[in-house]
Amino acid sequence: MNKPDTLEQFRQQTTDWIAQHYPPQLRPTPGASGEDPRQLKIHEADWLALLAKQGYLAPSWPREYGGAGLSDEQVRVLNQALRKAQVRSPPISAGLSLLGPVLLEHGTPAQKAQHLPKIARNESFWCQGYSEPGAGSDLASLSTRAELEGDEFVVNGQKIWTSHADAADWMFCLVRTDREAPQHEGISFLLIDMSTPGISVAPIRLISGPSAFCQTFFDDVRVPKDNIMGQLGQGWTLAKQLLQHERQALGSIGRGDARRALTLPELAAQEIGINAAGQIADPVLRDQVAQCELDSLALRLTMSRSADEARAGQGSAHIASTLKLYGSELTNRRHELMISLRGADGIGWEGPGFTPAALRTTRQWLRAKGNSIEGGSNEIQRNVIAKRLLELPE
Ligand SMILES: Cc1cc2nc3c(=O)[nH]c(=O)nc-3n(C[C@H](O)[C@H](O)[C@H](O)COP(=O)(O)OP(=O)(O)OC[C@H]3O[C@@H](n4cnc5c(N)ncnc54)[C@H](O)[C@@H]3O)c2cc1C
Repeated sequence: MNKPDTLEQFRQQTTDWIAQHYPPQLRPTPGASGEDPRQLKIHEADWLALLAKQGYLAPSWPREYGGAGLSDEQVRVLNQALRKAQVRSPPISAGLSLLGPVLLEHGTPAQKAQHLPKIARNESFWCQGYSEPGAGSDLASLSTRAELEGDEFVVNGQKIWTSHADAADWMFCLVRTDREAPQHEGISFLLIDMSTPGISVAPIRLISGPSAFCQTFFDDVRVPKDNIMGQLGQGWTLAKQLLQHERQALGSIGRGDARRALTLPELAAQEIGINAAGQIADPVLRDQVAQCELDSLALRLTMSRSADEARAGQGSAHIASTLKLYGSELTNRRHELMISLRGADGIGWEGPGFTPAALRTTRQWLRAKGNSIEGGSNEIQRNVIAKRLLELPE
């Protein structure tokens, strides 16, 4: 691509690039039922690789770290073009959406050079080692400990609910480095290579079958001292900052622009039919679909406004809690509605009687329930909003 002189030129170039490169097989077709999930995965991987090559997985990161070096305005135009073309958004990944922004700000030059380009090219896969059996909502009570011996930390303990730990190359991990210090001050932030001897991972089976969840055990795991991010004992500040990015990312799911299947209005038109005026035939469902679409639009605008405020150094970092709370509730409402629209087909779990698209709806509906827990439960977000944003008394 030639370097564009104006934002409008950039918009045109980006729009043309998407039109030229987006695999047509990924465009959902109303009425189609026989999509082959394996083929879709291949086309999805191709699309992801193209985005990565262009630096569009981390568009605002500097080029030296695998990003596209875009300005804030250009990132916004890129996102608008992707949304307008209704392409599939890349999945939220722990490396790109959570660790990357914090590493950019707090990583040492060596850490940034080692990790950021691989994250931006989707070549290294990260997991998040925060929760423990005795530390979830009350995360600061975590007890996995890391003791400094020469040039290495020796880590012992256990993490739980570590999504995709069994597939991850690296983990960003909260460890207790000082048991005498006040709770929040004895925590450090370590980057741990998952192939280090002493780490074992046990996938967790749920009532629904295999899941992404794992337990991760550390038994005398030796981690180079240089893998600490930030200062010793100051990991809590970084951990909280990362959680803001996680909450923002989780809230963004509620915008409903992750194009994986039919949009809500398309699904409604397919399942319910349209009347002579071109509207969804059932007036009650039409109203619910319209409300959901309007609320998604309002969330998108609010997210964009809060991003502007953040860039201008205004607003509160705790707005991420509001976005996460609202976005996850909206996602749940959207999936409830999709289940209603599919009628009896919406409650299938497996078997030949259901189309792959209908089965995906059921699974996505169940998965959406987790959005109200991960990244800090919605009760915790309400507490943060009450305390930090509304400044209500304890
Ligand atoms: C889909 C999914 C993916 C996840 N992935 C990861 C991951 O990759 N890495 C990781 O480290 N963790 C992960 N988690 C774990 C997640 O961060 C925790 O489940 C979450 O923080 C809640 O902790 P807990 O499960 O221990 O529940 P608890 O803290 O025991 O809470 C139980 C209930 O009590 C409520 N509660 C607790 N304290 C309060 C309070 N002060 N006020 C009001 N209500 C309260 C909670 O809202 C909840 O309803 C994931 C969770 C889910 C669902």
